[in-house]
Amino acid sequence: MREAETAVPTRLLRVDPVRPAPEALAEAGAVLRQGGLVAFPTETVYGLGANALDPVAVRKIFAAKGRPGDNPLIVHVAGRESLAGLVASVPELAWTLIDRFWPGPLTLVLLKAGQVPDGVTAGLPTVGVRMPAHRVALGLIAAAGVPVAAPSANRSGRPSPTTADHVREDLQGRVELILDGGPTGVGVESTVVDVTGPVPVLLRPGGVPLEDLRRVAGEVAVDPALVGQEVERPKSPGMKYTHYAPQAPLVLIEPGPGAGPSQVGEAAWRAVREQLAAAPGRAVGLLALRENLPRHREAAAAVLPFTLAEPDQPTPAGGWPTPGVLAVEAGPAGDPGRVAARLFAALRWFDAAGVAAIVAEGVAPSGLGLAVMNRLRKAARAVRRV
Ligand code: AMP
Ligand code: MG
Repeated sequence: MREAETAVPTRLLRVDPVRPAPEALAEAGAVLRQGGLVAFPTETVYGLGANALDPVAVRKIFAAKGRPGDNPLIVHVAGRESLAGLVASVPELAWTLIDRFWPGPLTLVLLKAGQVPDGVTAGLPTVGVRMPAHRVALGLIAAAGVPVAAPSANRSGRPSPTTADHVREDLQGRVELILDGGPTGVGVESTVVDVTGPVPVLLRPGGVPLEDLRRVAGEVAVDPALVGQEVERPKSPGMKYTHYAPQAPLVLIEPGPGAGPSQVGEAAWRAVREQLAAAPGRAVGLLALRENLPRHREAAAAVLPFTLAEPDQPTPAGGWPTPGVLAVEAGPAGDPGRVAARLFAALRWFDAAGVAAIVAEGVAPSGLGLAVMNRLRKAARAVRRV
C-alpha cells in the first residue's frame, strides 16, 4: 500500500482521564464499531485500538504501525464477562489472577475461541486478554460494545507512547482519532503471563511485578527467552523484536548483585566521556539516577557544558544546539516505578534533541525494575555490567 492511500485526517479529542465525557467516548466508540482506528490512554501506555472481531479493522493496526504480522495483539475488555466470546476456557488459576489484578496491567494468554480472527493472534492458538485500569479505556471499550485489539500506539520499533503527543509524532495521518487523556501512569506495558499450562509462565515483565504474581499464584516460571537464552521459537513473539529503540545508539550500565547507584554512576560517566570523544561538537544524552546527578554535574563543571532537561520540555527545532552532556533524571534508584513512568518519554526526548548517543543508568531488576531493565536491554546497542 502506498503512503498516500493510507493517509487519513487525524482528529485529537481531549478527555478528562477521571471523568471522560460520555459524548467523546460515544464518538470514539462509533469510530471503532465502524472499523476505524482510535488511539487511547490506558494506565500503562497509549494503545492503538480496533474492533478485535473485525479482521479488516485489525489489519489496519498492522499497516498503521508497520508491525510485523507475526506479532500478536492484546485484546482489551471492559469486564470479565467479555472473556466468554474470546477464549475457549478459563482455568482456575487464571480466575485467581483476574480476581487480584484486573482491572490492571496484567495480560493473560489463554486458548482462543473460534471467533477471534487469526490476524489478532498472528495465527497462534492462544490470545492475550486484559482489562485496563483506566476510565477512558474502559469507557471506550464499553461504548464500542466490542472487544478492542490494541498494541502500543507507536510506529513499530519506536519507544511506546506515554502521551498523546508521542502518538501524534508516530501516527499522525494513520489513525482517525486520538483521545488525549494526559500522560499515562505506569509508563511500561502490561505484564504478559501464559496461563495455558499447569504453571503460569511470565512472557513479558511489565506493570504487575513478578513478585506480586508469585505472592498470588505461587510458582511462576520465567520464559527462557527473557533470561537471555536463545530460543528457536519465542513463546511471546513480540519479544524477539528490537522494540523500544531510540534512534541514537544506547549504552546501558547494568548493576550486578551488590552494585549500587554510585558504581553505576562511575561507569556511566566513563561511557559519557567516551561517547563525547567519539562525537566531537555533539551532545550526548545521559539518563541518570537522581542520586548521581550532583556528582555528574560536578564532574562536568570544569570541562563540559552540562544541562539537566525535563522530558516534557520542548526540544529546540533542529535539535539541541550545544555540545556536552544533556542529562535527564531517570528517577531514584530505589523507586523503579518512577523510572518506569519516565523511561519512554526520556528516550523520545533524547531522539528529538538529536543526541549522538545515550548512556542509561540501570536499576536493580526487582519490582518494576525488571520491566525497566527489560526495555532498556532491548533499546541498548551495548550493555556494560558493573
Ligand atoms: P504490545 O501490545 O505492542 O505491547 O504487544 C503485545 C505483546 O503481547 C506481543 O508482542 C507479545 O509479546 C504478547 N502477546 C500477545 N498475544 C500473545 C499470545 N497469544 N501469546 C504470546 N504472547 C502474546
Ligand atoms: Mg508495543
